Amino acid sequence: MSKLLPVPLFIGGEWSNVSGVATTPVHNPSIGEVIAETPLCGADTIDQAVRAAAEAFPKWMETPPVERARILMKLKVMLEDHFEELAQSVTREHGKTLAEARGDVRRGLENIEFACGAPSLLMGESLENVARGIDCDTIRQPLGVVAGITPFNFPAMVPLWMWPMAIACGNTFILKPSEKVPLTSIRIAQIAEKAGLPPGVLNLVHGGREAVDAILTHPTIKAVSFVGSTPIAKYIYETGTAHGKRVQAAGGAKNFVLIMPDADVTNSATGLVESAFGCAGERCMASSTAVAIGDAAHTVLPALVDVVSKIRVGPTDRDPQAQMGAVITRKHADRVCNLITQAADQGAKPLTDGRHTKVESAPKGFYVGPTVLDHVLPDMITMKEEVFGPVLNVVRMEDLDSAIELANRSIYGNGAAIFTRSGKAAREFRHRIQAGMVGVNIGVPAPMAFFPFSGWHQSFFGDLHIQGRESVAFYTQQKVTTTRWFSYGEGSIWSDK
Ligand code: NAD
Repeated sequence: MSKLLPVPLFIGGEWSNVSGVATTPVHNPSIGEVIAETPLCGADTIDQAVRAAAEAFPKWMETPPVERARILMKLKVMLEDHFEELAQSVTREHGKTLAEARGDVRRGLENIEFACGAPSLLMGESLENVARGIDCDTIRQPLGVVAGITPFNFPAMVPLWMWPMAIACGNTFILKPSEKVPLTSIRIAQIAEKAGLPPGVLNLVHGGREAVDAILTHPTIKAVSFVGSTPIAKYIYETGTAHGKRVQAAGGAKNFVLIMPDADVTNSATGLVESAFGCAGERCMASSTAVAIGDAAHTVLPALVDVVSKIRVGPTDRDPQAQMGAVITRKHADRVCNLITQAADQGAKPLTDGRHTKVESAPKGFYVGPTVLDHVLPDMITMKEEVFGPVLNVVRMEDLDSAIELANRSIYGNGAAIFTRSGKAAREFRHRIQAGMVGVNIGVPAPMAFFPFSGWHQSFFGDLHIQGRESVAFYTQQKVTTTRWFSYGEGSIWSDK
């Protein structure tokens, strides 16, 4: 085993290593080796970070938005200089391919680019003469100390969904990345420090439930952004709001992709494969269920299986040809395999089966091969649970109506897509589908930084979504000023007129 990488805290501009607390391992999933140990910090550490963020807040709030944006612009340029290194860091701690890791970093950087527009995004509204001689306007001000809690599956992008915009709006921030993937956030914070971010504006803490609870109950923290699984998202929303905080909590998903009989065979098969098996299925926008409508099962399914069976699974950190990497932990790999077994026992037919995938060059890696389950029925286990692995259900349906009805029975509502050549079917789908992000001939309809990441139902708890203008609204509060000016002495009871 090679030397463990440090997992330091970054509080008030100081880096420090923690000792004397329990830790949890960070793996390189490709080879199944422990590469670091994340300290599971408690309330004391969170309080220390909150104090540092609160101390930095008044000066940062008074820093003109354009100056705040200039630091972010510098940060963005510096992160571009470290782009490959960051992508490698994502691959090492997550297991996704380098190409996918580059996408992870790129999407994060787009959020910084968007946050650089803070001077325009923060502009208020005004109306002259709301009544005779009276004007009214709004300004947006930061909330204060805000916090972000992030999942393992996008080590670069998801934290960057949050803190660049939060600090661009004048808040100071505490980030608690997933204890499974803390390393990329540490590297980005080191670069942010070099870019000139003042001490205490961005703070980095580590931990699990205890750290999260300390964030949710700390009286100084005004708002919490969360991304993770649905049960935790619900808990975060309920606990955070009960403690007077503004909360946006994005949860899990089960996304449906409808394949119409008229769909382009090659493009829909490729789109589905990328959506279901990209990042080994560990994406909240992954399609977990394909609904083959009418004849689509006979045309698209063989093409799909052909592509899937050629996917090269391997150690993404050392095999540039690997097209799909490992999942995050051994425990998760076992869980995914177990769900496949249960679905097969319930009558699903594996067309490809990833349960016994062996990678010779990395025998201890956490591998599950891409699995396509055909003839899946709505009450089977892989339809009900978020598998979050490389497993695609195929459900066969007669028509668009019944497919939409099936999709709309899901408790989630993150994304949904349709592959078709028919504008009418696409329009019908967009109108009726109960999901916040819709793709038409796009397998992963994840919106870019300037649009909200807008899950519905149990895929999101809160009002204002992450990304886009909604994130500006989330990280600010409005002040409305109504103004009247008098000529000197006019209308005064002391006027001698
Ligand atoms: P997770 O819910 O296990 O963990 C997310 C965060 O919550 C981590 O920082 C973790 O430390 C913390 N946490 C975990 N258990 C906790 C508990 N009991 N109490 C308090 N905090 C706790 O999620 P994950 O496994 O890291 O990530 C995968 C999940 O995230 C999937 O469900 C996926 O769909 C979801 N996700 C959603 C989106 C979205 O935009 N909707 C995006 C990415 C990932």
